[in-house]
Formats: sequence, C-alpha cells, structure tokens
Amino acid sequence: MDITQDEKARYSRHLRLPGFGEAHQARLKNGSVLVIGLGGLGSPAALYLAAAGVGRIGLVDHDTVESHNLQRQVLYGERDVGQSKCIAARRRLSALNASVKLEVHESGLDAVNAMSLFAKYDVILDGSDNFATRFLVNDASKLSGKPLVYGSLFQWEGQLTVFNRSRSAPCYRCLFPEPPRPGIVPDCNEAGVVGALPGVIGSLQAMEAIKLLTGLGEPVEGRMLVMDLLMGKVRSVKIPKDPDCPLCGIRPRIDHIEAGSYPVPCLLPDVAESREPVEGLNVPLSISVEMAWESFRSGKVRLLDVREPDEHAICQIPGSVLMPMGNVPDLFRELDRKAWWVVVCHHGFRSDRVSRYLRSVGFGSVSNLEGGIEAWAERINPDMDRY
Ligand SMILES: [Zn+2]
Repeated sequence: MDITQDEKARYSRHLRLPGFGEAHQARLKNGSVLVIGLGGLGSPAALYLAAAGVGRIGLVDHDTVESHNLQRQVLYGERDVGQSKCIAARRRLSALNASVKLEVHESGLDAVNAMSLFAKYDVILDGSDNFATRFLVNDASKLSGKPLVYGSLFQWEGQLTVFNRSRSAPCYRCLFPEPPRPGIVPDCNEAGVVGALPGVIGSLQAMEAIKLLTGLGEPVEGRMLVMDLLMGKVRSVKIPKDPDCPLCGIRPRIDHIEAGSYPVPCLLPDVAESREPVEGLNVPLSISVEMAWESFRSGKVRLLDVREPDEHAICQIPGSVLMPMGNVPDLFRELDRKAWWVVVCHHGFRSDRVSRYLRSVGFGSVSNLEGGIEAWAERINPDMDRY
C-alpha cells in the first residue's frame, strides 16, 4: 500500500527528513508492532508508534488502570481508573490516529499464546515489568525470528537494546541465562521510578521500532544503552553473544516454548491480583511497626518474615516465622489460617505482595508491616543490625 495525499500531509515532518522518503512512510503503514505491557514503557511507545503512522499495533495487557499508574502511564487519564488497560489504550490511540489498526489482547501474554501472537507482527516491543515475561518474550522472539526491542528500568536508570534481529545478535539469555530467584531483585515495578524515566526509555523503544520497520539507521544491537538520568550520564555497553547461551548459543537447549518453564509473572499467581473482597476481613492491610510491636507483645499477632535466609541471618525479630517469598505458594498451607499474620520483609514491598497473596488464598487476617524490618530497627529496636 502506498501512502495517500492526506498521509503525505500528515507525515510531512517525516518526509522532510533527509533519507526518509514516501517508501519509508509506506513501510510504517504496512508494518506492525506488538506492544507487550501497556504500562510506563508501553504507554509512550504505543503513542509514538500510532502518531508515526505504524499501520497495525497489537496491545497486550491483562491489567486494569489503577490511580498510581497515572504518575507515569501517560496513555490513561483519571476517568480510565478501574478500566481495562487495553480498552482505555485503544480509545486513546484511535483518537490520536484513526487509521491505525489496533488489536487488543486483553488476556495477556502466556506460554500458550506467545508464538501464535508473535507470528502476526513484524517487531516485538517489550514493555513488561517482570522477569518471567521478559524471558518468555525473549524466547518467543528468537524462536519466531522477530526482532525484540527491549527496555527496562531500575530506579533512576533505564536500559535499551534490540535483541534477536540477526543470527550474530545476542539475546536476553546471553545476559541472564535463567530468571533470578524471586525476591532477590525488585520485580514488577515494586521499586520506585520517576515517571519521566519510562517516558524516555519507552520513546526510545518506539524509535528503535521505527528504525527496524523503515530500515533506516543502525539499531542498538550488540550493545546496551544504559542511562543514569539522575546523573545525566549515558553509556553504551557492549553485550557479547554467549556461545553457551541456552537459546541462541552453539548448542541451544531451548527449541520451543514450554508451558510451565516461565515462572508466573510477579511470582504469585493471578489470584494475588484478585480484587474480590475476602469474607471476614477484620484487620488493616498494613500496620505501623509501633502497632505491630504492641500487638506482637500482647500475643495478638504472629510475624511472618518473607526475606531470604541470608537476610534473616543479619537480623530478625525473635519469634517470627521465616518463609522466603518464593516459598510462600508452596508452604502457606503450613500457616495457621485463624491467626492474625503480620508479614515482614526488608522495606515492605515483598511483604505487601505476600499479604495480598495470603488474603487471596483465603487468609482472613493478614497485615503488611509498613517499612519492613528497616523501620523496626529504626523505631523499635535500635540495637538491631541493619543492611
Ligand atoms: Zn543468547
């Protein structure tokens, strides 16, 4: 399909670029991008792709908009809170560019649908926020021969690269052969982020996708752009291809997508996302260390420490039960459901997730310890070792 007179006018700022002709705009029009995750990265990426005239955009997200998303997920407004991200995003993007074909995949990405979904698009853009999805996206991208535009965030730092475009290109598993153990590194956006950072990285992802579709420029391949936006520093770090990589190495061990080999996103099963109220809930979702200490001393609550054993070795609250977060789905049945559990971790992020999970599997009385053991050390027991 060639571009029309209207399109020539609409995309005139593209066409005025040296080296960017009508044929390049037509490649965008005839091209397609699958955007996985409509959060901080996917929002600016999808907006710029739609604005640029990419003909077909797939939108993958199973989540709904929450008010704390609005700080960085610029696809949405206040009236979208509570609605499906896919539907809200489609509304916003079609208002921006009605000629773009928008395909929503509200059930999200999983090991079963990944290959068939990827087959329908030219470029895969990963805006996901968890390791399980990143590994699945990487593997399906490599196995389906589709280039992957990767972006990730950690606090003030963003990273960007293109994986799996050519045989000589490295893949995500060349960097990280296996997913990290849950709870070891922050996952699922549990770490803080300033909204402009995903804005920068998501826009760069759109840029790379536009370059891949048009064939213009040099993709960021075989290297990672690492941006420390707090200090205003950008580095380009070489990523070597690993000959022993289980996916793209000399003797690959992964030759298909196997359901079950990708740990459930964000560790805990979908039930953790359940918003249905639990019957008989009679304790606050989170409590202060002072309140926890009072209740613990008087025997009203039990403490569940979900940190890792090496963290527990440094400091612990005497009388607490140690159950690392990754083991909770296997071991929660050992806990007394009738007790009031206060869940403890280092800073209160992991424990918040575990609290919600325990409620979702039927525990009536669970609270998160605000600020974690760090706050406890600060305000209850100053003699406690900290890390
Ligand atoms: Zn690899």
